[in-house]
Amino acid sequence: MSFVVKTSKQIILMVALVALTGLTAWAGSHHEQPVAEQSEHGHHQEAPKGKPTPDEAIKMLRQGNERFVTGTSNHPHMDSARIIQAGREDQGDHAYATVITCSDSRVPVELLFDAGIMDIFVIRVAGNVVDVDEAGSIEYGLSHVNTPVLVVLGHTQCGAVTAVTAAMTGHGHPLECNIPPLVDNIQPAVQKTLDAYPGAPTRDIIRFSIEENVWQGIRELFMRSPSTRELVKNGQAKVVGAIYNVGTGKVKWLPEEQTFSILDDVEKDPQKTKNAMAH
Ligand SMILES: [Zn+2]
Repeated sequence: MSFVVKTSKQIILMVALVALTGLTAWAGSHHEQPVAEQSEHGHHQEAPKGKPTPDEAIKMLRQGNERFVTGTSNHPHMDSARIIQAGREDQGDHAYATVITCSDSRVPVELLFDAGIMDIFVIRVAGNVVDVDEAGSIEYGLSHVNTPVLVVLGHTQCGAVTAVTAAMTGHGHPLECNIPPLVDNIQPAVQKTLDAYPGAPTRDIIRFSIEENVWQGIRELFMRSPSTRELVKNGQAKVVGAIYNVGTGKVKWLPEEQTFSILDDVEKDPQKTKNAMAH
């Protein structure tokens, strides 16, 4: 796909997003008073005024998933009053998380975090890959909707990761023409797993690759997005990996330290994108 086509597409996406969310969110100027605090991991954190800190937002997601799993969901922000509020107010003053996850029908994002309307900025794409359009959407969620956390959420039994594993172990089948350029982002994760566990049963390769694919997505995001790197380094946002179990409803949270270690690696990589803003 040519650079020009992707760039135009990205601009159209951004224009559409601005139209949807209002120009005040684009400017983001009403969040000028940061509230600083120290996170439990010792990283400095700042939240836009009225927004939770990154750790507070993660706690809200964790607690929401616990309610979902235990059948005690509150189903917040689902009533007509919230819809009216959504039509009148800026999502940038309310949404507390950006989540990128798979398109799989077994991964209902708001339900599994017991969240509602105007709570989560969601990007869904088969295999939760982070290519240019997804990175642009994430940048919008973090920098313009001002969400203090991004969750890269993989899931058990992911068909996209399974298909790539099958193809890379000689059990592939013909794919529709647009699928290979989509799933090529997953290949490095599967290759890394195959190298680390030679001869392991396919089900284990798939399981490990699903987690590796989350780290791969975070790495791709940091490689592509200087603005995201800055937000994480400044403590204004956290990027966390997680795996949703489609058979239990439970989110397994992956070690946050791994994100910082990936960020350190990317900072040393001369291939990373350096200009934060489009020209
Ligand atoms: Zn999937």
